[in-house]
Amino acid sequence: MGLRFFSTKDRPVHMGAYPLERLTRQDTPADLDSVPRWTPASFRRPDAPESIVNAMGEYQAMLDAIRDGMVNKTRATIPSDPQERSNHLKSFGYFSDASMVGICRLPDAARLDDPVRNPDIDRLAEELRTRQTKTLASGIDVIMAELKEAMEAPPSGIDGHKYALVFLYEYPRDPDNGDPGTDWIADAQAQRACLRANETAAVLANYIRLLGWQAKAHSGASSDVDLNRLAVAAGLATVEDGALVAPWIGPRFGVAAVTCDLELVADAPLAPMAEQPWFSTKGPAWWLGKGFAKSALNRDPFAKRHFADGPHPFERLKRVEDPTTYIDEPNVARVPKRADMFARAQFGDMGKNVQDNAKGGHYARKSAPSFAQRRALGAFVVIQNGDPNPHGQRPDDPQQNAANIKAASYFLGVDAVGLSRCPDWAWYSHDAAGDPIDPPHDQAISMIIDQGYETMEGASGDDWISVAQSMRAYLRFSLLGGVIAKQIRNLGYSAKAHTVMDGEVLQPPLLLLSGLGEVSRIGEVILNPYLGPRLKSGVVTTDMPMAHDKPIDFGLQKFCEACNKCARECPSGAITAGPKLMFNGYEIWKSDSQKCATYRITTEGGAMCGRCMKTCPWNLEGLFSEAPFRWAASNIPALARPLAKLDDAVGNGGLNDTKKWWWDIELQDDGGYHPSQHPLNRRDLQIEIDLKYEDQTLAVYPAPLAPPPWPYPFPMDREAGIAAYEQMVTAEEYRDRLAKGDM
Ligand code: SF4
Ligand code: SF4
Repeated sequence: MGLRFFSTKDRPVHMGAYPLERLTRQDTPADLDSVPRWTPASFRRPDAPESIVNAMGEYQAMLDAIRDGMVNKTRATIPSDPQERSNHLKSFGYFSDASMVGICRLPDAARLDDPVRNPDIDRLAEELRTRQTKTLASGIDVIMAELKEAMEAPPSGIDGHKYALVFLYEYPRDPDNGDPGTDWIADAQAQRACLRANETAAVLANYIRLLGWQAKAHSGASSDVDLNRLAVAAGLATVEDGALVAPWIGPRFGVAAVTCDLELVADAPLAPMAEQPWFSTKGPAWWLGKGFAKSALNRDPFAKRHFADGPHPFERLKRVEDPTTYIDEPNVARVPKRADMFARAQFGDMGKNVQDNAKGGHYARKSAPSFAQRRALGAFVVIQNGDPNPHGQRPDDPQQNAANIKAASYFLGVDAVGLSRCPDWAWYSHDAAGDPIDPPHDQAISMIIDQGYETMEGASGDDWISVAQSMRAYLRFSLLGGVIAKQIRNLGYSAKAHTVMDGEVLQPPLLLLSGLGEVSRIGEVILNPYLGPRLKSGVVTTDMPMAHDKPIDFGLQKFCEACNKCARECPSGAITAGPKLMFNGYEIWKSDSQKCATYRITTEGGAMCGRCMKTCPWNLEGLFSEAPFRWAASNIPALARPLAKLDDAVGNGGLNDTKKWWWDIELQDDGGYHPSQHPLNRRDLQIEIDLKYEDQTLAVYPAPLAPPPWPYPFPMDREAGIAAYEQMVTAEEYRDRLAKGDM
């Protein structure tokens, strides 16, 4: 979404970004006979091997394969009011970036006599049987068994389903010939919208089943229902001159749905467009977006921008030759994947309590929204890698490849993309099985996904939605980064998507090299000038030649030196209030990853944590009025401290209950999700705390303290970690010592 003039802090999430509440509705049922019949989308373009549609096909088929599944035998304890349930599920749809969400009673006229099954599911199943995919993601055997079952299961039908949740995804403008880098994305709008809507439908159907009710997802390629008729019945579109039209959007959108037997409240169908009040659909409020997020001026961030340039004005950023923090490239210490804190947690290196909470991903399972997202995330692991197409065209113009990669990534919905070399030192030394990694690729496509302002605004950062905020962004990268990797393999090059489930590179240095942000006080979090720290990253590595971006300098080093807010607000005390120091060859504000991971994995009043992201002054809403802050923070170092104080004074980073849409339910011993019995993590700003570096006790585990690469327990020696923190030196002193040969 482009820039906005007005805040939407007072608008509940379930109302969405468009002012649907201003529309006139019918009090009679929709005339579904007049609705043009829905026809399924095809993801096969054999005559256009360069088309991104071919790469999307596998991901669409995977989501279609998991559109149904087991229903939790233990029903969740959730509010009984159907209106509250409807608001909740609509909010989840908007949290997942649907343009519009509507609900209808499932009309008989929308049930298909012959449900449509995506033919690519069989092709994918066959390929998975023969493909030698090497993946070391934990739990992969379970994922494979579940996928096999899902792909071979007989159709289950939707007999008892009474309601449909309908998700509408709008198209951005069509790419045109004047756009750089549009070789791959021509004529792909329907498939793009279909895939994005399908992600949301697959997740919400799984969510409702986890709560204990029947639910099944229906996409543009696999469906038991006529999606056009549902769009009309749910009050999202009308039929105008024989075509389906959504208010403000027109005919350019795709739809997916979830049918279920959970009691909801249906929306009324819309009155025809000719009966809609002018002030609602075309008046000044729509032009300016007063009271809601979308407006005529910002609806399509690419209306006046090239796809390859992205939705934010990245071209305005100051580019520099080297990152603003020192990297001693020749001496960066590569560590094994086994040193990752979540791997260490699972092996018991941090003690039994942490291990118990990490086992089987309990920290994600205990929250129903994130466990719902986790299924698709796991399914994508098995297709994130593969062999290049031996007949691929192997385009070799680095500039054109770069433009195509960026335009395709942004077209699909990635929030920021940067391209760089992928030096050997950015790879782990050993994979999860303990085998040495010989870096196979020297090019990196770094991507970042916004975790979403609205839900962050309602959260404390460490309550029951936190893990789903992370998981949503990880899932989005797995999908979109996975499609880009597949596209590159289709073109004849090798490529792998490094996802949260299975990755072999350290992402922060690649984000720095590709100009996606600077090192922040939070530590390993790279902060982007337009998204702040509110992001998750993913990387695709490849051997495809591409032009590179340069690192950026937007003044963050001075700002973080003057601001301590994340350190003050961190519930585990993991973030340093002190200076940047050298760690494994990198200059960073080194946090105590052990404290952070322990808190995130074991916290009882919520699931995981991102409070540092939530409270940072750079976590902005995206308003025009925030531009002066960004400019001053980037250009006038002397203002950093007053701006940080001002941020506190106006209450930024506090709680906004209007935006809290999730339920505080937790997985319990009976296998159901019920209200959590633990005191809720819902703290407001802690302005009264005066955190001092000299009062902190922090530990670090540099390469000499890292565990061996093999999958065996290796308890952490915290005393040694504390001593290691005390021995770290500033970049200046480090360089002095290097010059003297004293390292
Ligand atoms: Fe939470 Fe870790 Fe950030 Fe602290 S550093 S606020 S524990 S995520
Ligand atoms: Fe930097 Fe302040 Fe944000 Fe922390 S809260 S990352 S110190 S700007």
